[in-house]
Amino acid sequence: MNTIHTDVAIIGAGSAGLSAYRAAKAAGASAILIEGGAHGTTCARVGCMPSKLLIAAADAAHHAAHAAAFGVHIDGALRIDGREVMARVKRERDRFVSFVVAGVDAMPDADKLTGYARFIDDNLLQVGDDTKVQAKSIVIATGSSPVMPSMYRALGDRAIINDDVFAWDDLPKRVAVIGAGVIGLELGQALARLGVRVSLLGARGRVGPFTDPDVRAYAGRVFSEAFRFEPFAQVQAAVREGDEVRLRYVSDAGESIEETFDYVLVAAGRKPNVGGLALSNTSLALDDVGLPVYDPLTLQAGAHPVFIAGDANGVLPLLHEAADEGRAAGTNAARYPHVEAVERRAPIAIAFTDPGIAMVGSRHVDLKPESFVTGEVSFEDQGRSRVMLRNRGLMHVYVDRASRRFVGAEWIGPDAEHIAHLLAWALQMKLTVDEMLRMPFYHPVVEEGLRTALRDAVVRLG
Ligand SMILES: Cc1cc2nc3c(=O)[nH]c(=O)nc-3n(C[C@H](O)[C@H](O)[C@H](O)COP(=O)(O)OP(=O)(O)OC[C@H]3O[C@@H](n4cnc5c(N)ncnc54)[C@H](O)[C@@H]3O)c2cc1C
Repeated sequence: MNTIHTDVAIIGAGSAGLSAYRAAKAAGASAILIEGGAHGTTCARVGCMPSKLLIAAADAAHHAAHAAAFGVHIDGALRIDGREVMARVKRERDRFVSFVVAGVDAMPDADKLTGYARFIDDNLLQVGDDTKVQAKSIVIATGSSPVMPSMYRALGDRAIINDDVFAWDDLPKRVAVIGAGVIGLELGQALARLGVRVSLLGARGRVGPFTDPDVRAYAGRVFSEAFRFEPFAQVQAAVREGDEVRLRYVSDAGESIEETFDYVLVAAGRKPNVGGLALSNTSLALDDVGLPVYDPLTLQAGAHPVFIAGDANGVLPLLHEAADEGRAAGTNAARYPHVEAVERRAPIAIAFTDPGIAMVGSRHVDLKPESFVTGEVSFEDQGRSRVMLRNRGLMHVYVDRASRRFVGAEWIGPDAEHIAHLLAWALQMKLTVDEMLRMPFYHPVVEEGLRTALRDAVVRLG
């Protein structure tokens, strides 16, 4: 048995782990990065990047199919070649992955270890069969995995997760998407736009990340127009018949529906990858789902030299948060016992649906009802949105009554990914609604819709 000694051991070479490794080294520590699976990160291999590539193809198909409203006609049939779509998704995805892998290749060999790590005690890891790592501090950056409810496990290779979609060589004909969160909506809408017959079945009324009931209801109507979308479906049976799956479920309207699909794409949430870490061998306090109890400010588990970053801590499963947390965890691990709080940016979350979905700052559900006013704009009559025939959307901005500061927003609408950045920057700069309205607004742009919502908030503030 070979035992390696290091200042910092990092478990997982995803976005959080890579960032932790670089930060630990920059702080002057020795560091070992341990990866059990494929290098390249979840984001580049099977997450952010391939999903956006699939969406880009879907949007191209959608715009071509809807050009006639502008007087632009495609004579002859529009043809979507599933093999070409998937070939581009994989080709471009592989390019992004290759940049990450090149970065890992450039690291000194002595700093990398291949194999799954598990704890022997608080400072000792077993990696594979014949290596132990003795570390002064450890960063857990093991990411997350999709939850697969037992009902779907029996479907074998017909029950798939996001990773499997990006391994397809061609598009299937019929897909049931289970779960109406961000991943389910993004992939479900993209597949529908690419000609796949999609039924998207939620269970608890979720529509993406929304907590504002009006915005959620509006978004639900938008998606229902494009494909079968049942946010409150109750799936009663999933049976494999040859290469097909027969689903029986009760729809939102109370109807019993049976449909046949080629695949069931399960996007019913993700859980942190901590099950295989043998955390019971440590003295770390674990919560009721087996996660180390940790301080969300410093990412430290109790008073131990163990830090937990990225999707593994189950809080903000977003790429930029994983990178920020990894950096903080790596620095704290290197400087332990001198630990500092993560410098958090204004909260921002985006779903790349069309219309886009975005959330900035405090969620509606987390605000005290009497503490804020809601400014609203519908994008249905918003000038620039209508020019582009993208005039679907509803935005709610929340403004604190006492300070008049902008505190949050939830919306679905055109160019949401860009407006989300304006709002997140305004939030981080602690701007009041009056200061925001003194900023320039060009004409005609979608941001004029945001101005309408802010003005509406001012009227309501009185
Ligand atoms: C379909 C999809 C779309 C997404 N789109 C977006 C988006 O548009 N924008 C956005 O911000 N976020 C998006 N995300 C989320 C984003 O991808 C994640 O938040 C981010 O990748 C998490 O990084 P991480 O470092 O925590 O985990 P990962 O990148 O998953 O890294 C964890 C690593 O740990 C390794 N590992 C696990 N256990 C062990 C062990 N015991 N020993 C050794 N190695 C181990 C794994 O093999 C893995 O390589 C998306 C996710 C998905 C699935």
